[in-house]
Amino acid sequence: MPGPENEMENCIFCKIANGEIPSTTLYEDDMFRVIFDLGPASKGHALILPKEHFADVTEISEEYAAKVLLVAAKIGKAMKKALGCTGFNLVQNNGLSAGQTVFHFHMHVIPRYDDGSKIVAWDPGTLDPEEAKKMQKKISEALD
Ligand code: 5GP
Ligand code: ZN
Repeated sequence: MPGPENEMENCIFCKIANGEIPSTTLYEDDMFRVIFDLGPASKGHALILPKEHFADVTEISEEYAAKVLLVAAKIGKAMKKALGCTGFNLVQNNGLSAGQTVFHFHMHVIPRYDDGSKIVAWDPGTLDPEEAKKMQKKISEALD
């Protein structure tokens, strides 16, 4: 049966976050578990998983939203000390077109090592001022 309850029952990240499936845990508190990504973009690539199920950032509660960046900063700082990375990217995908493959909110913490690798990169386009005005109007009207 489709529906949110069934989604949670079958959700791999719910199971990992709540310890039903064992994982190498870098950090855990009452709200989050932080694990290594199975397909890392760089050495130490980690995922911050809330223990509650939210499909993506549009569903996350205020409580979790307020905390997740603090956890990301804590993990990033520890990675710089422990792994010798010189920076880190926080990446958070929402929706298929954005590359989301697991529909349980998670934030990637991707350590960076001055090795010239490109992980989060794009060729900059140009911003058309007329189009920007139109988009600005439409988006401000769409805000809840
Ligand atoms: P997304 O593309 O949804 O932002 O990220 C999902 C990430 O989860 C991917 O980078 C993928 O490698 C990772 N992943 C998928 N399944 C598992 C799993 O069972 N365990 C772990 N540790 N990582 C997973
Ligand atoms: Zn889940």
